[in-house]
Amino acid sequence: MTETDVLIVGGGLAGLSAARGLRGKKKYLLVEKEARIGGLASSVSRNGFTFDYSGHLLHLHWKETGDLILRLLKNNHFKLKRNAWIHLAGVEVPYPFQANLYGLPEKIKSECVSGFLAAYNNSHKPYALGHTQKSPEVFSRWTRRVFGEGISKYFMLPYNAKLWQYPLDRLTADWCAPFVPMPEPREVLEAAYARKKRAMGYNPVFYYPERDGIQALPDALAAGLKDIHTGCQLESLDIKNKTAFIRRLGAVKYKSLINTMPLKYFAGLIKSPPDGLRKLSARLRHNSVHVLNLGVKGTSSKKHWTYFPEREFLFYRAGIATNFSRNLAPKGRDSLYIETATDGGKLDHAAAEKNIFRGLVKGGIIKRESDIVEKLWLDIPCAYVIYDADRNKALPAILSLLKARGIRSIGRYGAWKYSFMEESVKEGLETARELLIAG
Ligand SMILES: Cc1cc2nc3c(=O)[nH]c(=O)nc-3n(C[C@H](O)[C@H](O)[C@H](O)COP(=O)(O)OP(=O)(O)OC[C@H]3O[C@@H](n4cnc5c(N)ncnc54)[C@H](O)[C@@H]3O)c2cc1C
Repeated sequence: MTETDVLIVGGGLAGLSAARGLRGKKKYLLVEKEARIGGLASSVSRNGFTFDYSGHLLHLHWKETGDLILRLLKNNHFKLKRNAWIHLAGVEVPYPFQANLYGLPEKIKSECVSGFLAAYNNSHKPYALGHTQKSPEVFSRWTRRVFGEGISKYFMLPYNAKLWQYPLDRLTADWCAPFVPMPEPREVLEAAYARKKRAMGYNPVFYYPERDGIQALPDALAAGLKDIHTGCQLESLDIKNKTAFIRRLGAVKYKSLINTMPLKYFAGLIKSPPDGLRKLSARLRHNSVHVLNLGVKGTSSKKHWTYFPEREFLFYRAGIATNFSRNLAPKGRDSLYIETATDGGKLDHAAAEKNIFRGLVKGGIIKRESDIVEKLWLDIPCAYVIYDADRNKALPAILSLLKARGIRSIGRYGAWKYSFMEESVKEGLETARELLIAG
């Protein structure tokens, strides 16, 4: 039987970073079910195009991980200033909506401004997250309290309904703080009545690899790492005897385990699970995102991506990947990614395409359908984890049941949260450090 100190499940950024942190200090073995490493931060090559699982842009927030990521990429990166827009009522305004109301039709603008001011005056702490006894405030209430009726009606509610595919009066707002920009009244007013484009939010500047798509990052993280096994899926786990059963490797005995695969499904692989684990993990929910990547005859737009809150568009966002790097497509061609969400169910690709192509022409992303020269669907079955009262109750209990049995569950899906690439790298390194300290 194979033996190791640390078994790492998943070769995405969290798993690879954990392996990197342990390298040369502790015996580890990383198993990845796919034939390649990278997880969601992977890229697929097709006839001269390089497609990601939707836009994967590096916004860096911490010195250690930011420096590491840029050092690993060497000179293979561009630094870009976000150029993101919202398509609404036949016009486009810059992102974030709430801080860029200038170009909207007058009626919509005045509803948004007056609603915002009324909300601001009504709520003595508008930006704080309210809690009931049981759970954080729900999104539909939070957005009305913070942004008012107009901004909620035209953007926050329809856009988030499309993205999350979950009732907004059950979705809690505890994921919002880092991701939803919150301007002050002065900023909202200035940007509504004088054209003053505001760059707010978590990603006004970001990095992207010059070559090879986002796959360049996991490839650089993995360089020089041994004991990475692709095509090796964790199939079941005996946590009492600390033995994992891995496709193509067989039984692997471990002392500690770092999990980065989706927590809900990881829990389902445990034989004779601790009391309550199955029931708790059944309370975790997620949506699915279906990314239609397109190669097209050149577009003239310099935009990075556009949000589409209106229901007539099936997709919630459409991006032009070649505006991150021209190297993602052959000369004279552009590469687009179009994101549509479902509530965890499958999407009928053929039916969706008809609606999407019509929407892309109407939304001004392409001139005509015949400009499309390449097409690749990439589905993300577990894409955004749902924040609700069930998650709030179940998650801490699941993580502590696992930790008591030598299992640390980390990363976007292991820790079951809304997070970004750098955070997975950070958690992988920190978890490795914790295990080294524990001895
Ligand atoms: C639509 C979308 C857009 C995004 N855009 C951005 C962005 O612009 N910028 C940003 O910073 N972040 C973005 N993210 C988030 C980013 O993708 C993640 O934070 C990061 O890639 C997660 O890395 P991870 O290692 O935690 O998880 P993952 O990448 O999911 O890695 C987990 C790994 O586990 C493997 N696995 C699963 N089951 C098993 C099994 N049974 N046995 C073995 N292996 C298994 C999987 O194949 C996978 O490789 C986006 C996410 C989505 C869904």
